[in-house]
Amino acid sequence: MKEIYYRKKRYLIYVLAAIFFLTMPFITINGNHIFLLSFEKGEFHLLGTLFNMQELYLLPFLLILLFVGIFFITTLAGRMWCGWACPQTIFRVIYRDLLQTKIFGLRKKIANKQQKMVLDTFTKRIKATLAFMIIICLCLMASASLMFFFTPPSDFFVYIQNPREHNILMFFWLSFGLFFAIDIAFIQENFCVYICPYSRVQSVLYDNDTIMPIYNSNRGGTIYTDDGMKITQKLKWSNPSAECVECEQCVKVCPTHIDIRKGMQLECINCLECVDACTGVMAKYNKPSLVSWSSPTSINTNNRVRYIRLKTVGYMVVLLATFIALLFVRSNKEGMLLNVNTTAEVYKIRPQGVDNTYRVLLNNTDSKAHEFFLKIENPSVDSDIASKLEIITPKKPLKLQAGQKSMQVVTVRMKANTQASPKGDTNYPFIIKSYAIDDEEYIFAKRKVNFIYPSKQIIDQHLQKSKN
Ligand code: SF4
Ligand code: SF4
Repeated sequence: MKEIYYRKKRYLIYVLAAIFFLTMPFITINGNHIFLLSFEKGEFHLLGTLFNMQELYLLPFLLILLFVGIFFITTLAGRMWCGWACPQTIFRVIYRDLLQTKIFGLRKKIANKQQKMVLDTFTKRIKATLAFMIIICLCLMASASLMFFFTPPSDFFVYIQNPREHNILMFFWLSFGLFFAIDIAFIQENFCVYICPYSRVQSVLYDNDTIMPIYNSNRGGTIYTDDGMKITQKLKWSNPSAECVECEQCVKVCPTHIDIRKGMQLECINCLECVDACTGVMAKYNKPSLVSWSSPTSINTNNRVRYIRLKTVGYMVVLLATFIALLFVRSNKEGMLLNVNTTAEVYKIRPQGVDNTYRVLLNNTDSKAHEFFLKIENPSVDSDIASKLEIITPKKPLKLQAGQKSMQVVTVRMKANTQASPKGDTNYPFIIKSYAIDDEEYIFAKRKVNFIYPSKQIIDQHLQKSKN
């Protein structure tokens, strides 16, 4: 049926979006989630890779993707997110169109969303209560699904058995769920019109090539003056060639209660119900719909919508570049965290050589325990510094549980026969590598540090003092 063409497509997208968001938290790759920001465990999971909270350098990439993605979608297709994937719209359709209209018969038709629900009998009030109870349960499910991005489902189901020990989680889960239920049942589309910040910013992102539901006043006739006042005279008298039959089906079906014939309005959520409604009406006259999903330029010029244009290509390039950078940074993620700082004492001259000490913080960010060891590597292929340096302490590997940190004082020695500079201290850059003994290929981190070797003058003075 052509007249509910977009509605069917929207419902299909709703089902796919619901499946995606409900199942995603349960999918793990190597024990890690696709997206999880666990404040409790100090972990961030992205696309199956585990990051420590100190490795949140990926978040700016995600924020760029989010914001540029919103700009891109809005420039291309207006408020398409609102009508086609926003949980608010999906739950309003479930509550108003499925529960109240189709299942409980409290509303007459999906096609008339303007008609007020009259609960004038006891049975109707029971049905309305039942519909509200069902939507509360569904909203709590949706709220739990949101929590799964912060507390994995396996932990969530254990925690709700001991609510007193997890009152913050319980508070957020129940508050979001209940607010969402109140929003769906009572605030309704007023949320989209007056509260949602997205509707405020969208107008600045639109251009004349953005696709949106548009009434073709060239064919249908002018219904409103330029000041937005409705012309009281019937169209068939003022403009006999106008095709709009003023059936108002496009108005009655609108969930935000606007008249699309007035032009683009901030309240429009791009659900395209008005397009479907007019398609049905016009089909009886063998004419195409007067309201179509098109762009102002396309309507005025009768040309196809320009999807590919400078703005949209620019956004796509930024999105692609950010996504590639995100994948690159993710693939270069180190398997552990390593911080190396020098101590206050720059060096110590000993009979066997010169010692430098470093404070080294090791953090096992893996999901299982490992034994870690340190070694010295050359900073470049033409350097041979690693053969001259030796780690004096620690000599034994260090066992760290999953997520455990440990601060170690590491002493590195350069042998006494090294030639000292007559002018001053010499810096020898080298690499400290820390690695898990059982998985050196993946769980390791390297840091470039300097070994400071004293000048010949200082060594001679030290030797002189020692003799005396
Ligand atoms: S005018 Fe109303 S029915 Fe038409 S797309 Fe916008 S919100 Fe939906
Ligand atoms: S549904 Fe079409 S014909 Fe009917 S009032 Fe709306 S624009 Fe006019």
